[in-house]
Amino acid sequence: MRLLLFDIDGTLVDTGGVGRSSLQEGMRLAFPEAVGDQEVPPLDLAGATDLGLTRFLFETFEVEQTPENETAFLDFYVGVLRRHLIAEDGVVRGRVLLGVNALLDSLSLLPDVALGLLTGNTLEGAQTKMDAYGLARYFCFDSGAYGSDHWDRNELGFVAITRASEKRDHPFSPGQVTVIGDTPKDIACGKACGARTLAVATGGFESASLAGHQPDHLLEDLSSTEEIVSWLMQ
Ligand SMILES: [Mg+2]
Repeated sequence: MRLLLFDIDGTLVDTGGVGRSSLQEGMRLAFPEAVGDQEVPPLDLAGATDLGLTRFLFETFEVEQTPENETAFLDFYVGVLRRHLIAEDGVVRGRVLLGVNALLDSLSLLPDVALGLLTGNTLEGAQTKMDAYGLARYFCFDSGAYGSDHWDRNELGFVAITRASEKRDHPFSPGQVTVIGDTPKDIACGKACGARTLAVATGGFESASLAGHQPDHLLEDLSSTEEIVSWLMQ
């Protein structure tokens, strides 16, 4: 058995900046008095979790870190994200990245492969994006790990492995797991749980920069379906 855990942004899809603008607008809508006419500061989204970003925004605008405030903010955020991702005429902004559909098609036909998401997006944010880009059918949303599970991405690998093991009734060992992502934080998160790591330079980091973080495998994009499947199944 293999468990393959995919990051979303920069790995499967490019939302064209919609995620960032939705977080900023969500903060304005959820806490208009705290934000006032201040600029929402630039957000470092690469490999971040939505709960981590929530902490940063709350600190910046002196909003109390309570579960109620987090929920209020994330609800506004997902509402804005839906409106920004899909225009009124039904056109979806951004795109699915090169090779992703063919790779997921191939992997989902293999009997001993479990596909999951390991993402900084909240569960709702992840579902919203996967629905918008037609990728939801490949993933089982009650396994995987999300930015709503923990603010620290390095904790998410353990969460995903535990959930997939329960769901499949198969105790995945770290050696059976691969984390696929586009940032140094994806590589770190894979290493933290003992998984293999596949880095792909389709997000904000060039391959030379990713190489410095020593992923087990490094690709410019996910277009070489057969080669990737054979490496993943090694
Ligand atoms: Mg990413």
